[in-house]
Amino acid sequence: MSKATDDGTVIAIQANYYWVRLDQFPKTPLLCTRRTRLKKIGQKVMVGDRVKVELPASLLPLVKQGQQSVNFADLAEGDLGAIAKLYPRRSVLERPPVANAEQICLVFSLADPPLDVWQLSRFLVQAEATGLRITLCLNKRDLVDATAIAHWQDRLQGWGYDPVLVSVHNSEGLEPLRHRLEQGTSLMAGPSGVGKSSLLNALVPGIEQRVKQVSGKLRKGRHTTRHVELFTLPNGGLLADTPGFNQPDLVIDGAKLIQLFPEVRHQVTTQSCFFKDCLHRGEPDCAVSSDWERYEHYLTFLAEALQQQTPEGQRDSEIGVKTKTGSDGQEYGEPKLEPKKYRRPSRRQTHQDLQEFYGEDGIERLREESEEEEP
Ligand code: GDP
Ligand code: ZN
Repeated sequence: MSKATDDGTVIAIQANYYWVRLDQFPKTPLLCTRRTRLKKIGQKVMVGDRVKVELPASLLPLVKQGQQSVNFADLAEGDLGAIAKLYPRRSVLERPPVANAEQICLVFSLADPPLDVWQLSRFLVQAEATGLRITLCLNKRDLVDATAIAHWQDRLQGWGYDPVLVSVHNSEGLEPLRHRLEQGTSLMAGPSGVGKSSLLNALVPGIEQRVKQVSGKLRKGRHTTRHVELFTLPNGGLLADTPGFNQPDLVIDGAKLIQLFPEVRHQVTTQSCFFKDCLHRGEPDCAVSSDWERYEHYLTFLAEALQQQTPEGQRDSEIGVKTKTGSDGQEYGEPKLEPKKYRRPSRRQTHQDLQEFYGEDGIERLREESEEEEP
């Protein structure tokens, strides 16, 4: 018998269970296991993955009725979906581990804490290195005057960015920001204290209830466990807050560093330097000028990058993941903390998490079903 399926997006991972937002029933996520054949071919499911899900039996009558919205809490307890197929990824971010992200929403504040240009520049360079689109969001505009606002707008335009200035406190600027987030999957990153959590609460109505319903204990522990979770925005689009992206490491190839500065990128693409391996720090006939504000950032980051590229530097600059090439030829990020057992929550913890959602009977069925996975 062929099973009813629907495609969806993995929005959170909890132990060996996956929360999937189904395309057909986007309002509430469905808890899923993963078919054994995916494990066998070494396919690791990531948050952000597009997957095909075999629907649980109790959902089928609703599918037949063409129902658009289901409260999964009404399903039989412990009734799970099963991820049967993983679709090819358009992008893979290693830290945090997220698939198919398109944009990084970098959040800084104009005051409290004051905007530190070196820190901002570091975050920007790190974000550029992912190859994703960048939206720069400057929060707490209520704390600064019009002169300061104009100053930052001009200055950052000089860096090649068009920042969105917002205030979570008085809701100013939130509409343009929502507009920039309404396509695809975006990650929110930035230093602490700038208002990322406040912003997430403003952008995702009902997030408190959803977090409670979906994640249970997962969220409480997220500062230590570095889980990533995707939230659905009201106008479309998915947004992740990204623990683990808050301290950029700047592990970057020195020779490519210049490409990560949008304000001078065109100088190296339209015109070439005399030396093929020019590092643009005063070599003769260099295509890159020196009269731009962040030139000194460039030189400093370059020195750091070159330092890391020496054998000595490399030992200190391990990034938080290693990459593995999958059987499909794609590279996948793996958490550095091996063996996996160390990262997996204890059985008891997982049991408690699931119990909160499914109750004791549900847990029994969960266990049976996950053991029942195809041989
Ligand atoms: P996070 O560490 O980036 O998640 O920052 P939080 O969301 O925890 O916010 C840090 C502090 O900034 C809190 O006290 C917030 O109330 C405050 N805050 C957030 N947004 C704004 C804003 O738009 N204006 C002002 N004045 N304060 C804000
Ligand atoms: Zn050059």
